Amino acid sequence: MQATLSFLSTFYQLGHSFWSASRPWLIAVCLLVTAVLLLPATGQLENSHQVLLKYLPYGLSIIVILLGQQFVQGRIAMAAVNLLIGYSIIQLHLQAPLNQDNTRAYFTLLSFYWPLNFFIIYWLPERKLISPLGCLLAAVISLQIASTYIFVHYVPDYAQTLNQYLALYPFGQDPEDFMGNWHLPLASTLTLLIISLVLLTHTLIKRDRSHCVLFASMIACTLICASFDSNSISSLFSSLIACALLVTLLFNSHDLAFLDELTGLPGRRALMNELKHCGKHYCIVMADIDFFKKFNDTHGHDTGDDVLRVVAQELAKVRGGGTAFRYGGEEFTLLFKRKHAEEAEPFIERIRQDIADYPLIIRDQENRPKIKNKRSLKSKASTTQVQVTVSFGIAQRQAEQRPEDVMKSADQALYRAKEQGRNCIAV
Ligand code: GH3
Ligand code: MG
Ligand code: MG
Repeated sequence: MQATLSFLSTFYQLGHSFWSASRPWLIAVCLLVTAVLLLPATGQLENSHQVLLKYLPYGLSIIVILLGQQFVQGRIAMAAVNLLIGYSIIQLHLQAPLNQDNTRAYFTLLSFYWPLNFFIIYWLPERKLISPLGCLLAAVISLQIASTYIFVHYVPDYAQTLNQYLALYPFGQDPEDFMGNWHLPLASTLTLLIISLVLLTHTLIKRDRSHCVLFASMIACTLICASFDSNSISSLFSSLIACALLVTLLFNSHDLAFLDELTGLPGRRALMNELKHCGKHYCIVMADIDFFKKFNDTHGHDTGDDVLRVVAQELAKVRGGGTAFRYGGEEFTLLFKRKHAEEAEPFIERIRQDIADYPLIIRDQENRPKIKNKRSLKSKASTTQVQVTVSFGIAQRQAEQRPEDVMKSADQALYRAKEQGRNCIAV
């Protein structure tokens, strides 16, 4: 029995870790998988639907651009601008046979610049679209378009030379025969392979939703150019990229509204929302760090912030179906749905013990790391070890009690825990 329980617990933890690790990738993976799965179906669409699909990327990109500007998510908006421009060029200038020198030169340069711009946007800091940074990107794209046009039209033999030396098709049969199965020119293929590896490594380390989607958008653009002769590929893939950008924008906005920036836990607004949907049987736990004001005064506010992150990280590990929220300041709330106070107490006791045992090592101010992460307090370069404790107050919902009343009871229990000497639980 014990072995089964321990196996189930390990299985649950592995599943939970896998889910947490893969969550930022979800939209990106959905984009690529849906695109590849739906591609064969576009050939069977009726004419009217094909026309609709052709105009869909325009509408979706414009919505993303407007929302991105409004919600201060410049990178997503810039990606939509890049998508819109690349797609428009395909629709307006690349519908002619690609064995004409000028058209092929346009295609060669588009297949290089379009994904490259996603790569550039990937590394930009988050700003509004209409900002100096947005203007800089607009200047870069304008320069690419203007230089392409001028070189192709006014430099003698430019298109032929470009096609001859750059546009070798690695997997197609012959540069002259455009019906090979991989139409991306060799130069673009190699460059994009290298930058894809860079982005893949970075997204695996950073695990951030926007970065993953920008990376997937770059891959999708590359696939559009590589499989350029597939029916409706540019319309379908561009629509899906725009959808992925839109969903990312909405998820990011949701996080901005509901997640606490410092600790990454859901904030008070999320708690209040959750309380409206948690039925009649639940208990609320209020947690408050002991003597935190003194801690701030002794070690500084920045170290205090690091402690808040560590405590939040420990509280988030709570088992037994509990969810941790940052209520505000150094106060946290745990919500246990469908649990009695006595059932929740052992899980709280474990968390209390873990926090009290956590080896917090305070560095000198000069040694503090520039990059703040949750574990930044644990380091060999540090000097003093300190202990932080948390007091807990648990209240179970009684008949006819509103969520605010239960919170008030939990607060009173917390007050009692403080009076009883702190670092303890009061029910
Ligand atoms: P007690 O054991 O009674 O809870 O004592 P306390 O000092 O923790 O309680 P008090 O409510 O007097 O102090 C809370 C302190 O938390 C005051 C404030 O400086 C600190 N604090 C609140 N929010 C933050 C924050 O975001 N970062 C940091 N570093 N400190 C914060
Ligand atoms: Mg307090
Ligand atoms: Mg306190």
